[in-house]
Amino acid sequence: MTLTLRACAKVNLDLRVLGLRPDGYHDLRTVFQSIALADTVTLRTTRGPFELTCDDPGVPTDRRNLVWKAASLLWRLARLGRGQPRNVAIHLAKRIPAAAGLGGGSADAAVTLAGLNRLWRLGLDETSLSRVASRVGADVPFLLVGGTALGLGRGDDIYPLADLPPVQVVILRPGFGVSTVEAYRWYDEDARRPGRSRRSAPLRRATPPRWPAWAASLGNDLQPSVVRHHPTIGRIRQALVEAGAVTALMSGSGSAVFGLFERAEAARRTARDLARPGWMAVATRTVTRGEYQRLLRLPSGGRGV
Ligand code: ATP
Repeated sequence: MTLTLRACAKVNLDLRVLGLRPDGYHDLRTVFQSIALADTVTLRTTRGPFELTCDDPGVPTDRRNLVWKAASLLWRLARLGRGQPRNVAIHLAKRIPAAAGLGGGSADAAVTLAGLNRLWRLGLDETSLSRVASRVGADVPFLLVGGTALGLGRGDDIYPLADLPPVQVVILRPGFGVSTVEAYRWYDEDARRPGRSRRSAPLRRATPPRWPAWAASLGNDLQPSVVRHHPTIGRIRQALVEAGAVTALMSGSGSAVFGLFERAEAARRTARDLARPGWMAVATRTVTRGEYQRLLRLPSGGRGV
């Protein structure tokens, strides 16, 4: 049996750091949004040891890969056997750039959990899968749900929100990535400095846009600290706003920046105009929860563990 699933990227439409937790993580309040930019994850039943392959030589295909971690955890939790999973081969066709704040590895892991739940006929319900997902990574529970959703705690406590109206999204990822650990370290360093504002001011157009009013108040608290280390990210934001984006923000801990556009043609033109050698520049769109769930093909009910 072979399952081919799309693993859609996410952007953080809004990201606020509320404080530091006793476990060392930051308490967040974020609004996630699925976008159509996606990896393809193919799961195939085999006989023999677990196999993971990827078309991008820069992505590790061993235990460091979140797909490997997801498959191992699910294998053990479902008590299918000891040690590493068996009898499945997974191939990743990567389109989502790494270390971009687009949740690429996490999306692959979420899709793997959903796919293996079917392939191994586990019949786990969403709550059980979500519990496994949060052990794989903080962004993984959202990527089982998709659409527009509020994330609290580490970002893994998910509350689905009403879908946004369809929005065009331009993603620009400069030729470098930002490590999540480093972005939070820079944030903490800045937060400790007296007189430093911890909140990023949203970048707005002079004329009020025809967008839902809240779009103008979106922000990313990590952005000022990351921009201080990587001014290119700030310049990309500015360029997107000048090109007519309703809002332009860094996604998650960067390095990708997204711009929201009302018209597909403007989004396509902007992606074309702002592309630079070594960068990724794509015009994509938001994905609703219904569409996302169809892509993931999660069973509607199931058992718990
Ligand atoms: P997030 O938004 O969840 O912080 P990100 O978009 O910043 O994630 P990833 O695409 O998950 O970053 O990649 C970060 C690192 O994770 C990569 O440098 C890579 O070594 C490792 N990694 C593990 N699993 C994967 C995977 N399936 N695809 C890509 N990278 C992966």
